[in-house]
Amino acid sequence: MSVFDHLEFDGHEQVAFFNDQKTGLQAIIAVHNTNLGPSLGGCRMWPYASSAEALNDVLRLSKGMTYKAAMAQLKLGGGKAVIIGDPRTQKSPELMAAMGTFVEQMGGRYITAEDSGIAVTDIKLMAQNTEHVSGIQAKYRVDGGEADGNPAPSTAYGVFKGLQASVKYALGSDLQGVKVAIQGMGHVGFRLAEHLHQHGAKLYVTDIYPDNVNLAVEKFAATAVAPDDIFDLDVDVYAPCAMGASVNQQTLSRIRAKVIAGAANNQLSQESMGALLRDKGILYAPDYVINAGGVIDIYHQRMLSTADAMRSHIEGIADTLTQIYKRAETEQQATNVISNRMAEERFLLN
Ligand code: NAD
Repeated sequence: MSVFDHLEFDGHEQVAFFNDQKTGLQAIIAVHNTNLGPSLGGCRMWPYASSAEALNDVLRLSKGMTYKAAMAQLKLGGGKAVIIGDPRTQKSPELMAAMGTFVEQMGGRYITAEDSGIAVTDIKLMAQNTEHVSGIQAKYRVDGGEADGNPAPSTAYGVFKGLQASVKYALGSDLQGVKVAIQGMGHVGFRLAEHLHQHGAKLYVTDIYPDNVNLAVEKFAATAVAPDDIFDLDVDVYAPCAMGASVNQQTLSRIRAKVIAGAANNQLSQESMGALLRDKGILYAPDYVINAGGVIDIYHQRMLSTADAMRSHIEGIADTLTQIYKRAETEQQATNVISNRMAEERFLLN
């Protein structure tokens, strides 16, 4: 099947495939739209079962970045890269350097960043062969910690602010005593748990690896839950912070939360899930709006802006979500539909 006929193809400006025989690197970069600026998006390394699965992911994720940048009011377009391989066993310095060559060949139309499976050290290896990288120029960190270029603290802070605004909108309360189920105790999920704990929320956490779950139980008095049980809990908020599509036909009837607000990209298995959530009275925080803290961080660090400007820009996620919720109510539409509409009003008219 041609890329142009692919179900996830959405008028993408460019899709490039890279194969490096020397290192075994197989990667795809997709540039969705550059109307507002050069495309920026993370590079994900994942043991995809097939190149078709990788293509599917990169097409969806790059489109999401265009919408994310537009809703975060950034002068950036949307792009994404995927490397086919297991980050735990198949990474090497040579492979990462070859990925840098690939990024360089895009001529600045795509700027890479971290994503699942890719760390700052990997981006530094890519930077040997290209200047079109981000996340390694960091001068400050939103939580005041050492500036290491990891966008996860900013993403977690944005998700926290967005979750707080969503609870306020849906339940009319602050976070004290609010029950939150978090799927995925990784870079973002764990930090989100920390913010929520500090604001009095009661946490239920899960992961397929037990280490961080145990730490969250110890540090945040969280309740550990088996991965498949996370959907059935009688909680106020479900926060997906693992991989995509956790809100799907199978889980929809099981989710009892009144709010879905988390970090994961592409949380809905299909866009039509948004309307089903609305019908069930569940307030859904559109994923690319609530998880934009990381890209806002990267943007400010690249523009040599200040920590205060970055922080207040991230805090703006709360207002953007509230605007979406109000408009969704006025126009009687799902929140994801309204968010898409607002983003398109920004990037298509440019
Ligand atoms: P991560 O890889 O550090 O954490 C993800 C965690 O989810 C891992 O601990 C993994 O073991 C766990 N997990 C995977 N499948 C699971 C399952 N079925 N049930 C329970 N746990 C499961 O990634 P991260 O950086 O924390 O990002 C989390 C999500 O947020 C991803 O979807 C990512 O694309 C998205 N996101 C991250 C950032 C960022 O700044 N890191 C920015 C925007 C969006």
